[in-house]
Amino acid sequence: MTSGSVVSLRDAVREAVRALSDAGISSAEFDAVALAACALKTTTSEVHKLMIMGAPVPAGFDDLVAERARRVPLQHLTGRAGFRRIELCVGPGVFVPRFETELVAGLAIAHLRQASRVRTVVVDLCTGSGAIALAIKDEVPAAQVYGVELSELAHAWAIRNRDDLGLDVDIRLGDATAAFPDLEGDVDVVVCNPPYIPVGAIPNDPEVRDHDPEIALYGGSHDGLRIPLEVAARAGFLLRPGGLFVMEHADVQGRSLPAALATTGLWQDIQDHEDLNGRPRAVTAVRAR
Ligand code: GLN
Repeated sequence: MTSGSVVSLRDAVREAVRALSDAGISSAEFDAVALAACALKTTTSEVHKLMIMGAPVPAGFDDLVAERARRVPLQHLTGRAGFRRIELCVGPGVFVPRFETELVAGLAIAHLRQASRVRTVVVDLCTGSGAIALAIKDEVPAAQVYGVELSELAHAWAIRNRDDLGLDVDIRLGDATAAFPDLEGDVDVVVCNPPYIPVGAIPNDPEVRDHDPEIALYGGSHDGLRIPLEVAARAGFLLRPGGLFVMEHADVQGRSLPAALATTGLWQDIQDHEDLNGRPRAVTAVRAR
């Protein structure tokens, strides 16, 4: 090959941004650079430097861009997803952790940081990749952290993430609505990002619709609240009186989920919280005494 036929990294990234934009991807520039970093096995800041220095496009970049243009999630192509201070391995069979869930985990972390107890017990119901449970253990090392996941595939990702990160979290395979009989009444914080999309409300983004596991998406009823409320009932059993419940929800559930929790008599101080886009995103409630 003559040097004249070598495509520069800069041109290849520029072309990729165009292809990804044409495919309807709003984060085309970010994604193109991230895929170049993946192909080069380096960081995105190094990619920017290499573009300025006139480096050639790496092998495999075009294939990654073509896959992404087919709306395969970026995180499935890079195999990684950042979540708060940790990086998780993700791929087919596991829900890709979302930015808004970092804030949900943050509600639990903030509560644990100001807790007066030395030994706190935290449970993550529907842990998926392990994102929330592992981030909590990473940021509040003194907490005793547990997670449970129903899908065997997702559970395997969570175990891999736990072992890669070297975090001491008890991650079990099973149904959140019956999980942790050994912890009933002993838990300080239950946090949960359940499947909550209303059945029939099919997500627009192909990355979500076609690649996130359905078991992680749909809440099992037309209002999407059947599974969240079953899981909330379990949280009520697990928490000690005064313990905190944190649950993510759909933006259309900012009134209905708090109202449904209020009717059970299990909860006090029920509060709803917005995400950074100003949309209702999570409920917190304290286990009544
Ligand atoms: N947040 C998901 C989405 O954006 C929905 C399901 C969930 O997080 N539990 O598609």
